[in-house]
Amino acid sequence: TGVFGGTFNPIHLGHLRAAEEVRQALSLDRVLFVPSRIPPHKHTDPDDPIADSARRLRWVERAIAGHPDFSVDRVQIEREGPSFLVDTLATIRGRDGTGTAPPPVFIVGQDAFAEMGDWRAPERIFALADLAVMTRPPGHLRHLADRLPAIVRDDYDIAADGRAALHRSAGTRIDLVPITPLDISSSRVREECRAGRSIRYLVPESVREEIEESRCYAARPAARAHG
Ligand code: ATP
Repeated sequence: TGVFGGTFNPIHLGHLRAAEEVRQALSLDRVLFVPSRIPPHKHTDPDDPIADSARRLRWVERAIAGHPDFSVDRVQIEREGPSFLVDTLATIRGRDGTGTAPPPVFIVGQDAFAEMGDWRAPERIFALADLAVMTRPPGHLRHLADRLPAIVRDDYDIAADGRAALHRSAGTRIDLVPITPLDISSSRVREECRAGRSIRYLVPESVREEIEESRCYAARPAARAHG
């Protein structure tokens, strides 16, 4: 099982194609999309808002509708308080009553991978799950050692070609998965919305329609430049 976490603010074609390529490359049976819950009180930039959880969840549902191996997991959205990946992975592992299922595969872009040392309980995350590290522009990661967080570096034996690493004690692995570079980000989508430009072909059509109707990323009147 692949576990694809993200804010998905909003989900875009970069996310979707990435998940599809990783699913095929690693022969995953299914991919769970896990939108993170952003607490309503969390201070965010009023000029660059995070859409509420229900919306982000609905967009993910719409975007993956019809893919037999993709589904949405509400574990983070429904949990009170901030969502930590370590808890999510423990919950997902706990669903396997027998304890014999292979570890879940956390799917992450090379940018987020490099920052995982700052996440809650990184050592536990790396021991709980396999990782699929996807290339993402700008740049094209060629060797896992270039982005593997320092805090877990000594836990791994890295293959000479840099494409795979094995956790010495936990047995979990990391695979580098080169994918088609699609330089699309949620920030870019929001930026286009604020500027009143088209987001067609950056996000699925059904999602585009909902975003445009809701105007949830439109520039606030007060923030609009005058003259
Ligand atoms: P933002 O621009 O708001 O920071 P984002 O586009 O990075 O958002 P997230 O929901 O934060 O989207 O990303 C979730 C995961 O998907 C991360 O691991 C990220 O690296 C990965 N990801 C997002 N877009 C791409 C892409 N175009 N190619 C490969 N991986 C991607």
